[in-house]
Amino acid sequence: MAVSTGGTTGGRLVHHFRDGNASMRDLLGGKGANLAEMTRIGLPVPPGFTITTEACDLYYKAGKRLPEGLRDGVREALTLVEEETGKVFGGGSNPLLVSVRSGAVISMPGMMDTVLNLGLNDETVKALEREAEDRRFALDCYRRFIQMFGDVVRGIPHGEFERILERYKRRQGAEFDYEISGESLDSIISDYKELYKNSTGSDFPQDPFEQLLMAVEAVFASWNNERAIIYRNAHEIPHDLGTAVNVQTMVFGNLGPSSGTGVIFTRDPSTGTPEPYGEYLVNAQGEDVVAGIRTPRPIAEMRTEMPKSYDEIADVCQLLEDHYGDMQDIEFTIENGKLYVLQTRTGKRTAAAAVRIAVDFVREGKTDKAGAIGMVDPNQLEKLLHRTIDPKAQVAVLAKGLPASPGAASGLVVFDSQEAKRLGEAGETVLLVRPETTPEDIGGIVSAMGVLTSRGGMTCHAAIVARGMGKPCVVGCDALSIDMDREVLGVGGVTLTAGEWLTIDGADGRVIKGQVPMVDPELSADFQALLQWADDVRDIGVRANADNPTDAQKAREFGASGIGLCRTEHMFMEEDRLPVVREMILSATETERRGALDRLLPMQQGDFEGILEAMEGLPVTIRLLDPPLHEFLPDAAEILAEVSKLRATGASGRLLQEKEELLNKVNALEETNPMLGFRGCRLGIVYPEIYEMQARAIFQATANLVARGVDAQPEVMIPLVGAVTELAPLKEMVVRVAEEVKAESGVVFEYLVGTMIEVPRACLTAEEIAREAQFFSFGTNDLTQMTFGFSRDDAEGKFLHHYLHKDILEVNPFEVLDASGVGRLVELAVAGGRQARPDLKIGICGEHGGEPRSIAFCLEAGLDYVSCSPYRVPVARLAAAQATLKRGT
Ligand code: ADP
Ligand code: MG
Ligand code: MG
Repeated sequence: MAVSTGGTTGGRLVHHFRDGNASMRDLLGGKGANLAEMTRIGLPVPPGFTITTEACDLYYKAGKRLPEGLRDGVREALTLVEEETGKVFGGGSNPLLVSVRSGAVISMPGMMDTVLNLGLNDETVKALEREAEDRRFALDCYRRFIQMFGDVVRGIPHGEFERILERYKRRQGAEFDYEISGESLDSIISDYKELYKNSTGSDFPQDPFEQLLMAVEAVFASWNNERAIIYRNAHEIPHDLGTAVNVQTMVFGNLGPSSGTGVIFTRDPSTGTPEPYGEYLVNAQGEDVVAGIRTPRPIAEMRTEMPKSYDEIADVCQLLEDHYGDMQDIEFTIENGKLYVLQTRTGKRTAAAAVRIAVDFVREGKTDKAGAIGMVDPNQLEKLLHRTIDPKAQVAVLAKGLPASPGAASGLVVFDSQEAKRLGEAGETVLLVRPETTPEDIGGIVSAMGVLTSRGGMTCHAAIVARGMGKPCVVGCDALSIDMDREVLGVGGVTLTAGEWLTIDGADGRVIKGQVPMVDPELSADFQALLQWADDVRDIGVRANADNPTDAQKAREFGASGIGLCRTEHMFMEEDRLPVVREMILSATETERRGALDRLLPMQQGDFEGILEAMEGLPVTIRLLDPPLHEFLPDAAEILAEVSKLRATGASGRLLQEKEELLNKVNALEETNPMLGFRGCRLGIVYPEIYEMQARAIFQATANLVARGVDAQPEVMIPLVGAVTELAPLKEMVVRVAEEVKAESGVVFEYLVGTMIEVPRACLTAEEIAREAQFFSFGTNDLTQMTFGFSRDDAEGKFLHHYLHKDILEVNPFEVLDASGVGRLVELAVAGGRQARPDLKIGICGEHGGEPRSIAFCLEAGLDYVSCSPYRVPVARLAAAQATLKRGT
């Protein structure tokens, strides 16, 4: 028997669950592929079929019309399901009801819509009543169906149905939905139908097949609802993947005390503890758990309440985790004691859980070290390095909720998600506070520092979405009383209005008054183990960018094997130096300038001693002064104002004269385009005494340290070189100074002199440059600017988002190294450089050095190391290992 049907264009548009497997994700979506896989391995999955992502694509290509052949395909597949279940779609007895569920290739929890109980109409509802011997149940199913269908398929606001429901509840004095009587349900259904008719102009469809096609179309359309688009943007999911649609036989968790529904993770998604973790509700349908309407019970209680079902679902957990080789997030329903599995997917987890699970998998023999390295998203690691509430801080705990996603966050209370989005994008630090969240709130969640809700369990919408984003989140904090209309929050005897500070700790559920001090985290033994395995594997070094001993220390702690970029301009900016630096810049003669530089020398030397000592035994690349000199001078407008004021008061003499001179100098240094102006080695060429002072400071620091037995390894880096003739004289000067210092101090030390490669011409003439340079370090920020001809600030501020939106560029080239353009220059430079000097040491010190895709590129290009901010070092170590494994060495 052919079990796959439909489709006149390309492949088949409809696949029965028996006809697919986990590898067909692109076609069937994640949910569909896994339903097929679970069916294949014999798990109790309610029968059904999947309409492919291709059908969705065709739907959009045809201007939002269901593709030809889909109708027939669906009809045939339905017939198979009828045969399998012995039920009849639209049947007057034993009716087949189905759910219509979206399922994208990449899981987008709750972002698109699902319709349950489809197939009910005025006739089949009676049949369902006879079948279940429960009138209330049948009517409740119908009521829910009309509501979901009206909302999802015809866009009737959910709230309008809720208003009707609330009216009957009030009339009946019922607190919960399940207390509503059969008679009330009857009237609610009539009112719902009336609402449907008034809103859409047509009767609620009674033909189940028509219902089905309408729902399928709605799921396709929901691919492009606003919240789905925001979610995809936040997670870099392409917008052209489309969604599959799963049509599946309904099973009922709301048939009484031996029925129920739940969500179970094979391990704790917050901590990684290897025990099933989750929540369930007795006598409820699946959406009740996810929606956070009733607060569900921890899965451990199911062990005593429904022991047989608990054992069954626990076995399913084991089996699915082993089968997929990763932690799973499973939806199940128990219908009159019989377990059904409705979904499995790789479970979203916190960074801490990801690390623990990967390492535990190796311990349990479920994977090897390479497998474990591949299980953790490098970008997630950074979150483990961020701050938590200082345990010593005096904090006023106002309440405690469920710790849904760890990390601490302080922010200004905002109740409205649109508002949170607006303020967040405007750079405000906000905390989103709501009774619960729905997929509509996604924009606010993305923009908030953290999320706090008064309702919902650990698997409610807010919890899942926040965990996926690594955002602190506390849910189910029922001590909060939130008045959404007046925008006030009552908690622990305190009343807060929108815009006041509040702090949450997503690791323990605390809700804390005001803003509180935070501390750096401790790195777990599992974290260290995983990164050690990564180090053993990777074929590329990881250094850090650090300008001071504190950052250098941090970099070392996080596993950096050197400093790839130590910038010296920040040192010039410090309060005690700036006046001397200005004096140096304003000097009229070289002698004057040397006087100021002599005073700067010991300060710089101190800086270098600090950093070289912190990095003892590891190389430190120090870049000589790079920015244009006017950056150290006050703003021209400011001085002009002062000059005008002095003139106005009739002042004359020294002060006015000084200010006027300053103004002249500032004006003289002003540049039309500073990025391409008088900076980098160009300064060193015109004012060699500045670089000379810096070289002396570096070498005297080195000599001092080496004399004390400290292994200092300076690498002097000349910036912005485009021609070997720029580099040669500067290098000669640096070498001369080194030899002088050696002679003066009588200390022998090692050092390198190299250059930054950040001007396209340097890439093109790399072979010549490498004759003078002992190392190259790619400054990919400037190299990207000059290759594209973009100034970064202008691009990011003005037009880059248009480029991204219009797909002119796929990604921001300042975030992800542009392999096909900038990368070509990098490759040229590597080839040319190594031609002249086979042992040339080559690294990258732009921000790209901490970005996984760029790291993979650097590995391919044959670089010796990447260098990134200290907090990205663990990210880079893991990403480098993954890239090495992927390349297959
Ligand atoms: P989401 O992606 O939002 O989780 P789902 O398609 O998984 O959407 O469905 C929403 C809820 O409905 C889930 O709790 C799911 O378990 C439940 N559900 C879906 N299909 C069925 C079905 N055939 N029988 C019973 N419950 C179902
Ligand atoms: Mg869905
Ligand atoms: Mg689901």
